[in-house]
Order: sequence, then C-alpha cells, then structure tokens
Amino acid sequence: MKKTIVLKVSSTKPEIRLIRLAARIIQNGGLVAFPTETVYGLGADALNPKAVKAMFKAKKRPPDNPPIIHIADKNDVYMLAKKVPKKAEKLMKALWPGPLTIILERSKILPNITVSGLDTVAIRMPRHKVALALIRESKSPIAAPSANLAGRPSPTTAEHVLRDLDGRIDLVLDCGSTRIGVESTVVDLTVNPPQVLRPGGVTYERLVKILGKVRLHPVAIADKKVKMLRARSPGVKHKHYAPRAKLILVEGSSTVAVSEKIQELVNRFMDDKKRTGVLATDETMEEYEADVVKSLGSRRNFRVIAKRLFACLREFDDEGVDIIVAEGLPLKGLGLAVMNRLRKASGYKIVKVES
Ligand code: AMP
Ligand code: MG
Repeated sequence: MKKTIVLKVSSTKPEIRLIRLAARIIQNGGLVAFPTETVYGLGADALNPKAVKAMFKAKKRPPDNPPIIHIADKNDVYMLAKKVPKKAEKLMKALWPGPLTIILERSKILPNITVSGLDTVAIRMPRHKVALALIRESKSPIAAPSANLAGRPSPTTAEHVLRDLDGRIDLVLDCGSTRIGVESTVVDLTVNPPQVLRPGGVTYERLVKILGKVRLHPVAIADKKVKMLRARSPGVKHKHYAPRAKLILVEGSSTVAVSEKIQELVNRFMDDKKRTGVLATDETMEEYEADVVKSLGSRRNFRVIAKRLFACLREFDDEGVDIIVAEGLPLKGLGLAVMNRLRKASGYKIVKVES
C-alpha cells in the first residue's frame, strides 16, 4: 500500500505549484488521478511502459483494454497517429477540447503496452484546465482510462476515486464533481463511414451534423451481448459500470407501462426480503414504493441525468441495496450514452414492456 495524497485544486485557476507537483509524479513514472469534463482519469506517462503497466495493475484492468491518450495540443495528434484523415481534422476543429475520442492508425512512438498491441490509438483533448495544465507540465501525452477499479461505475468525484483506488495510486487532484458525468464519445476514423464505438458526451446527432454519414457500431446500441469479430474497441467486451447491487433495466415506449412493470418487480423482490431500489426520474419517482427510490433528474434535462448517473449507482451500494430496478430512457441525445451505461451495468438483464 502506498499513501495516496489528495490535493484540492481550483478548476478555474489551477495552482501551478500543485500542477507541477503532480507533473513531477507523472514524469517519475507515478500515477495521478485528475479531473476532466467527463469523469476522473487515472493518468500515467503514455510513453513510459513501466508507468502504463502500473496503471493497469492499480485499476486491475485487463491488459487487452487500452487507455485513451490525452493531449493538450492538437498538433500532438500528428506525432501519435500515422496519418490524420480530413474527417479527423474536421472533428478536432469542431469539438476539441471536448468529450470526443478519435481512433486513428498509430505511429511507432507509443510503447506496445500503451495501445495493448493494437495498430490503432485512441486520442482526446479534454476540456478542463487542470487536465490540460497537467499534460502540458508533464511534457508528455498522458494515458488515462477512468480512475475506477475495472468494472465499477466511473468516478465523477475525487471521493469515488479514493473509494476504489486509495493506497493504490500516488495522487488525486480534487476539483469536485465533473461537469458531464459520462465518458467521451469514441469514434473510429479508420473505417469509412466513421463509426461510433461508444456513445458519450458528444451526441450522435452532433457528429452527423459535422461529418454527414456516421454509423453506430452495434455494440454502442446493443441491448444484448454482441460478439465482436475483431476486437475493435476491446473495452466494450468487458463487464462495466456495475454497482455491487444487481441491476435490472426496464425498457418500453410507454412510461406508464414501464413504471407499472417496475413496481411489480419491486414487490416481488421485496417479498423475497431483498432490499430493493428504484432508479427513477423526477416525473415518476413519487409513484414507486420501494426501500430506496432515487431520481436521476428530469426527463426534460438529460444533461443532469448524465451528470448524476454514476454517483447514483454508487449511492445505492452505500445504502446496502441488493437489487436496483432502473427505468429505461429514450435513446436520443445524451440518452444514448446513459442507456449504453445502464444496459452494460445490468449485464443486459433487460425487461422489455410492450404497450
Ligand atoms: P475508459 O477510459 O476506461 O473509459 O476506456 C477507454 C475506452 O477507449 C475503452 O472503451 C477502450 O476500449 C477504448 N479504446 C482505447 N484505445 C482504443 C483503440 N485503439 N481502438 C478502439 N478503442 C479504444
Ligand atoms: Mg472506464
């Protein structure tokens, strides 16, 4: 066990003394958790194989699931990628810094372990002053997956990071809650048309507006386990986002029918003496009788829902819930990213209600 230091940093005017301290840890091969606009990342020097190896170990992350490489200067893409297609430049111009990760063919500069032996690399420029300052001061791209134990909900606060990684990493830069709350959208630009491998902070609709034709990979919208012939985005095959409680997702186009089904399931679980929670929305939460009822926010504001999602899942665990029954949401805008996380968190235990 090492001692994990926690430093509170200003997200608007990051204290350069603290950033330098963190950057020195990265340069010495250490591990620093830092905020981005999506979730907290666990950073290691992307060019240092030992540091990246330590990052995989700290997270207990399977070595076949590569991290996203974070940069602070758009020009660094040309160093990390073998070629940068026009569509990539279009996206970088429109959406960076921001919650978009692009997949490109990789150059030779990155060690094999950093890309899990793939011939591609995932790159992103985050929209967060602390993240950008840390990358700049470290003078190296930073490999950073989400700063949680593999399989757990992603961390949106420094407390979540500590809950999973205290004693396993060197430092956490604490800036409070992250703004977006779900991870970046991952777009593969090595295929034509480009393909969304993971929905996230940038909506599909927005990508279509910028690029014209964009496909959603079946895994991005899957409501059951999908086999991938070639592991294009290795992360998608692993268990993900799961609270300790079992999660069941109820989906259907009629909110009334969905709510009725949820209550029916809750009654059954409570009869079986299971401590049961409902993950609801502001519009429906009053309707449920369960041990714990939580609202993600209003169905009219998916930004709030996305921001609260992972914290809510962790709160059910804190309250000792055995089973969570969650309401399905429309697959539009940020709803697609939220539903992708909920479906995976449920291990595809999904009940469909026809109206
Ligand atoms: P995380 O940062 O934990 O949210 O995980 C990073 C995500 O990026 C995972 O879903 C990875 O599978 C994905 N990723 C990283 N590198 C690549 C790559 N070269 N090709 C496709 N997906 C990637
Ligand atoms: Mg992750």
